[in-house]
Amino acid sequence: MDKKFFCDIMLGKLSKYLRQLGIDTAYSRSIAYPQLIKIALKQNRTILTRKTGFLKINDSISCCFINSNNPYVQIQEVIKHFKIAPDDLKPFSLCLLCNAVLQKIDRNLAEGKIPDYIFNTVDTYSQCPGCLRIYWPGTHYKKMLGYSKSIFNPLRQYNE
Ligand SMILES: [Zn+2]
Repeated sequence: MDKKFFCDIMLGKLSKYLRQLGIDTAYSRSIAYPQLIKIALKQNRTILTRKTGFLKINDSISCCFINSNNPYVQIQEVIKHFKIAPDDLKPFSLCLLCNAVLQKIDRNLAEGKIPDYIFNTVDTYSQCPGCLRIYWPGTHYKKMLGYSKSIFNPLRQYNE
């Protein structure tokens, strides 16, 4: 998956969902539009926006208008519009907070930094090199895997 995105201020939830699927997605709550456009151009990112007037600003910007208000439907819009296939996704490879690529770490490095009951039952851990947050496959992980499958099969409702 070589497509990279930049979610505008109104699409914070979508940015987290895209990261959860392993899609490189920048987002900042405090960035102004001129700066956002500058970074998107520099990093070759497609801007995802809910702002209707956005498309007219500059022809050189790669930009996609998101119709829905519902993040679950928004994800489907992105998948459909950019023809993203299940094989393009790498769920749980990116930090949800800073979009950095997670690195596998030794189990003993996680000790003391996560709840004991997790440490005693989980063997594999990843860490964000940016914010140092530690990730592990938990119940949330399984839920998200089901979720990422369901977005390719929208007729089956996601109701977990
Ligand atoms: Zn991080």
